[in-house]
Parts: sequence; C-alpha cells; structure tokens
Amino acid sequence: MQRFRREWWWLGLGALLVGAMLALGLWHERQQTEARERQHLAQQARMLHDNLVPQLGAINHVLASLQADVPRWRQRPGGMAELNQRLQLFFAALPGVRSLNVLDGQGRVLASSHDEALGQDFGRRDYFQMARTGMAPETLLVSRPFQGALGGWVLVLGRTLTAADGSFDGLLTASLNPEYLHVVLQSVRYASDLFTSLTHGDGQRLMALGDANERAGDNLAMPGSLFMQHLQSQRSDNLLRGPLRPGGADYLVAMRNLQPPGLHMGKPLVVGVGRATQAMWAQWRQRARFLALVYLLSCAALAGGLAALQRRQWRLWHTQELLERQQALQRQQEDMLRRLADNLPGLLYQYQLEPDGRSHFPYASPGVTDVFGHPPESLRADAGPALARIHPADRVAGEAAMQESARTLGVWQGEYRVTLPGRGERWLSGQARPQRLRSGAVLWHGYVHDITEAKRQAMELQEKERLLRHLMEQMPIGLCIVDESGHFSFRNQRFAEYFGYPASEPLTLQRWWQEVYPDADYRARVLALWNEAMDHADAHDGTLPGHEYRVTTRYGTQRIMAIGGIAMGGRFMASFIDLTEQKAHSDLLRHLAFVDGVTGIANRRRFDEALQREWRDCLRKGKPLALLMFDIDHFKAYNDFYGHQRGDGCIKAVAAVLRAGLGRPHDLAARYGGEEFVCLLPDCGPQDARAKAQELCQAVRSLGLAHSASPVAPVVTLSAGVACLVPDERNSPEALLALADANLYRAKSAGRDRVDQGVETLQLQ
Ligand code: GH3
Ligand code: MG
Ligand code: MG
Repeated sequence: MQRFRREWWWLGLGALLVGAMLALGLWHERQQTEARERQHLAQQARMLHDNLVPQLGAINHVLASLQADVPRWRQRPGGMAELNQRLQLFFAALPGVRSLNVLDGQGRVLASSHDEALGQDFGRRDYFQMARTGMAPETLLVSRPFQGALGGWVLVLGRTLTAADGSFDGLLTASLNPEYLHVVLQSVRYASDLFTSLTHGDGQRLMALGDANERAGDNLAMPGSLFMQHLQSQRSDNLLRGPLRPGGADYLVAMRNLQPPGLHMGKPLVVGVGRATQAMWAQWRQRARFLALVYLLSCAALAGGLAALQRRQWRLWHTQELLERQQALQRQQEDMLRRLADNLPGLLYQYQLEPDGRSHFPYASPGVTDVFGHPPESLRADAGPALARIHPADRVAGEAAMQESARTLGVWQGEYRVTLPGRGERWLSGQARPQRLRSGAVLWHGYVHDITEAKRQAMELQEKERLLRHLMEQMPIGLCIVDESGHFSFRNQRFAEYFGYPASEPLTLQRWWQEVYPDADYRARVLALWNEAMDHADAHDGTLPGHEYRVTTRYGTQRIMAIGGIAMGGRFMASFIDLTEQKAHSDLLRHLAFVDGVTGIANRRRFDEALQREWRDCLRKGKPLALLMFDIDHFKAYNDFYGHQRGDGCIKAVAAVLRAGLGRPHDLAARYGGEEFVCLLPDCGPQDARAKAQELCQAVRSLGLAHSASPVAPVVTLSAGVACLVPDERNSPEALLALADANLYRAKSAGRDRVDQGVETLQLQ
C-alpha cells in the first residue's frame, strides 16, 4: 500500500515539473510573440512613413513652385489656359494627388487639373477660411478630413497666394488621392486582422483599413485614447499598448508622424499600424491550449496506466496474500487435527484389509498404545499384534461383522474385549466407515475408545435397577407408575392384591379411576384433591402430598387408603397404604377415651373439649351458651340403703334420661363426676335453659325410681344449677362452669329437688 502511494507521489511530482516547464516555455513564447509583433508593427509604420513622406515632400514642392509662378500667369493673357495645362502635368506626375486647384481670394476655382472643377466656389470650406484668416505662405496647410461632394473622405494640402501688398490673394490646393492612400495602407498589412490608418493631427481619421470598428471620419481626440497618449508623448513615433478608445479592446499600435524634414506643416499627419492583442495571441493561445490538452491527456493516460498497473499488481499481491492465508489456515487446521488426534482419549485409525486377508493400520493415532498396547509404527505393516489382543470370542464375532461391512460398505460398529499386559481385561467400543480401494482392498476410517468404566457403571446400574424393582415389587404397600399417556407402566404385587388387575392386562388411569371411585360425586371431590396434590408437586420438588381416600377394591369392599407419591415430569409414581384396620382401631380408642364406661354418655374429657369448642363458636357467632349442672339428691344415702350396684343402675338410668331429653344435634349430656351431670346447650338463652333444666329434673322424677332413704321425696330427684353467658373477652368457660356450680349449690341449699331460681339476678346480660 505504501509503495502504491509513493508511485502516485512520484507521478504527481513529475507531472508538476513537466507542467511547470511547459508553462515556462509558453510564457517565454508569449514574450517572444509580443516582441516580434512590436518589431513588425514598428517596421510597417516606418514603411508607411517612408512611403508617404516623399509624396508629401513632392506635393509641397509642386505647391511651392506654383506659389511663385501663379501670379505671373494670372497677369499674362491666356495664362490661365497655360496654368491649367501646367496643373494637368503636375497631376499626372503626382500619383498621390487626386486634384490640383488654384482658388482666387474668394474661393473660386481659377485653374484646375480637372476642367469640370473650373468656376466652382470653395470659399466656404473650412480649410479656405483657415487659410484666409492668416497663414504664412511657407506653411503647408493640412486640412481636417471632410466629406467631399462624391461622398468619400478628403484631405486637402495647400499653400496661400499673396498679393503684392502681402494680403491674401488665393489658395493652391492638392487633395490627396484616396485610392493611392488605400494601396499604400493596404501594402503593409501582413495579416488579415492588422489595421492601418492615416489620421489628422487633430485626431480625425482620414482612412482606416483592416478593422471594422475603425472608420474614416472617427475622432480619436479623446482623453485616455492611445492616439492622445501618442500626441502627449511629444515623440514622432511610439509603440503603445492599450485600448484604442476608453473601455475598448486591448491593442498594440505603432504610430508615426509624417513630418518631412524642413517642411513646416500646419498639422502633422499620423500613420498607425496596429493589431488587437487577442488576435495577436490567437495562434499562441491555440498552441497553449493544444499543449495543455496534450499535457492533461498525457497526465490522464499516465494516471490511468499507473492505476491499471497498480490494480494488476494489487490483484497479484491480493491473490498471493489469499493463497498464503489459505496455506496458513490449512497448516493451522492440520496442526489442530494432529493435536486433536494426539490428545483424543481413544484411537483414530485407518485399517486396511487386503484381498488376500492380510491387514494393517496405515494410520493410527498415538492413542493406539493405550487401546491395544502397541505403538502406531509397529502396526503400520501388520495389524496382527493388535488383533491378537482381542478376546477370542469377540474376535470371531468382530471378524464376521467386518466381512459384512466390507461386503455392504455399511458402517461397522461393535463392542469387544481386549487383554492388555498389566491392565487386564478392557472393554472397547468402535465404529468405522469403509471405503473400497482400486486395488480391491477395503479401508476403514474409524474411532475406538475404552468403555470399561462406562460398562462397569452400566452393569452396576442394572444391578441397582434389578434390586430396586425387586424391592418395589415386594413392598408391603401398593405401588404403581403411570406414564404420560395415562397407562400403568408398573404395578407391584400389593397393588394387584388391592385392585386385582393381572400384570398382563393393560390398564389405563381412566378405567382404574372409574372402578375405584364408582360414586360420581365422590370421584369429583377426589379429582379436585388429586389436582391440588399435582399442583403442589409442581411447586415442591415433585412430591405428591398424601391424602386419605375411600377406595372400592376388586372385592367390592370399601377401604381407606393414604395415597401419595412423586410426580416425574408427565409421569408419576403413586403409593397406596391401607389404613382401614388402623382407622377402625383408632376410632375405637377414640370412642373409649371420650365415653363414660358406666353410663355410655360423654365423659368429663369429652365435655371439657366440647365446652372449649362451643365457647369459641358462640364467641365467634355472638350467641349465648347455656350450661346445666345436675346432682342426684342424697345419693350417698341411696348407696347406703340400696347398695352400690343399685346406685350404679340409678346413675345409668338418670344418664339415659338426660341423653334422651336433649333434641338438638349440638346439645351434649355428659357425666361430670360421681353422680353429677352436665348439659351443654349452645345458642340457648337463660329462659330456655331453665325450662330445659326443669324438664329434665321432671323427667328423672317421673322415672319413679324409689328412694326410701331420701328425706326430699320417695323417688330419686335431682337438683340443678343453670348458667348462661354470651361469651366475650371479659368472661371464660371456667366462669360459666363456676356459675353453674354455684347455682347448683344454691339449689341444694334451698332444699334440693329443684332448679336454682336466682340465675337471672347473677349474670345474664
Ligand atoms: P346431696 O348431694 O343431696 O347433698 O347428698 P349426697 O349424699 O348425694 O352427697 P354427695 O353428692 O356429696 O355424695 C355423693 C355420693 O355418691 C358419694 C358416693 O358414695 C356416691 N357415689 C359417687 N360415685 C358413685 C358411683 O359411681 N356409684 C355409686 N353407687 N355411688 C357413687
Ligand atoms: Mg348428690
Ligand atoms: Mg355429688
């Protein structure tokens, strides 16, 4: 890249140098062109001068000689005719003159080189007036150019005639011949754009050739014009450059005064030879343009050439670099492959089987030492030593598979054992893709690795699985696994005992579900519960929390089972524990724990629990809770009189009456102790409670159990204390109990066989 840039710098520098030299050459050429042009113009002006000045001198000479002779001819008779002849002779000798006239003091033509002019009056012409108003006889009058009768511009030269007294007596005139002047001015034009001119000293132009803008009659006496610069310079010749008129195009002009030496002229005449600088340089400019074009084209061609060259070089360089990069990549890949093969925990190989049955390893990675216990080079010519390591049984099977692979050209794969010195028996696993060679041999490209450890683990796993299966099979609880499609994929013996499906019979969850929960309502409840358990399993490590379900077995009996398990993705394993017997047993124990053994009604523990529970319930609902407490009157005496056994019978009879007397489901009659009973009446006001107590006491009395030892009545009677509270934070179940007890005590004190009457005065709100 650097080199490419440098080449461009050199090219640029060279182009700059050549350009500079070219510009210098052109500048020099331009200078030379101008110098040459100046020289030419000055020379042409001089030629005009040298051509016209003798003419002027000759005219002046003729006029001077006529000046001396005319007065004589005027006095002589027939002198005029002679004068005319003389004028014609002069006219013929002067090619620059168009006519020669002699005017009298009033301006009339006395004599002329042309007869038709005789008698004409030129008295009003400017030059005549100028001559009459005073002009020395030796001065050559030079008139301002004026338009003659024939239309062309005319310039007249003249000399005055004086009378004997010295007064003005006429004028000798010679008008210049325009054709002659035209020829002279034309003769020096060496280029079509060159212009030549003859101008009066006052600035009025008599004739101009070669430039459409410069015409006869123009007045050049204006400030800033080249003509004025010439006049002001006081020099007889000049070479000036600038606009002919202010604001005009640029010209180079050589000007020269026509002033014959020794001749006194009224005004000088000035010849001019000039050229517009633009035209002067036209050729140079064309050449410069051409050279610039050649230069630019050369630069472009060189640049194009360099660019093309560089592009080719770059392409070459690029291709080379690409090639190098590819080679480097290839080397890198080869190196990577080699390192991979060297470090692979196994063997990469090529195994070749010749048609004659011989075999060898054209390539074996270093892993072969580990796998077969031989270095790669020892197997390159003969595979025998490696094959000898293979377990004889596996070798036979392996060779058969190899033959098959060689025949079908299908991938060979197999597992086999080798015995390695010092390492014992190892398991190997390999696979290889065959390729048939032109020679008829088969070449396998393959990979072998040691799977001893994996094999051992797999066997251990198999053993573990067998054990686990056995364990699951023999478990004293029911087990089953249901797969994603809802099929039972495993059922153990206990499950079969419970639900009775033979192992060979396919079973779906849906069918089992229908048969185990035949009641639709209960099935819906179970389903909701089961779904809840599944949700729980999703959120908690797959554990399906156990619940108790009432299932119907294959014998049609209903059993209580705890069903739980583990969800495993879409599958789940469920366990079934039969709780039926256990349930029954615990129900019995529970019953025993809460029932009084003698009377069969609730015992004290049951009552205590019920009191706490109903208290909380009424507290929540804002309802009153009533408590009736009964005690058999003079029971001690009863025992004493009738004996203990009859006493127990009496207690049983009273309990039965109390139990039968309570109608509502939540009412509870309990044996509080000895021959004391309590009734708990939730949502029961004080009036109703007292009425109920009365009713129960009356019912016992109505039993008519004889009590001869009672001082109160001939039959067994009760005393009762009634308490009723709407539970709140200020009171408690204990307070209710104490109140009932206190009221019972009062009933006893008041004479027994009664319900305490003072209850409402104590606490009811
Ligand atoms: P009162 O209640 O009228 O004041 O007199 P009382 O004789 O009944 O006195 P108290 O209630 O104090 O006596 C209770 C007696 O009840 C004491 C005990 O001998 C008798 N008793 C307690 N439990 C049993 C029982 O289970 N069977 C029998 N047969 N008697 C019992
Ligand atoms: Mg008693
Ligand atoms: Mg008692």
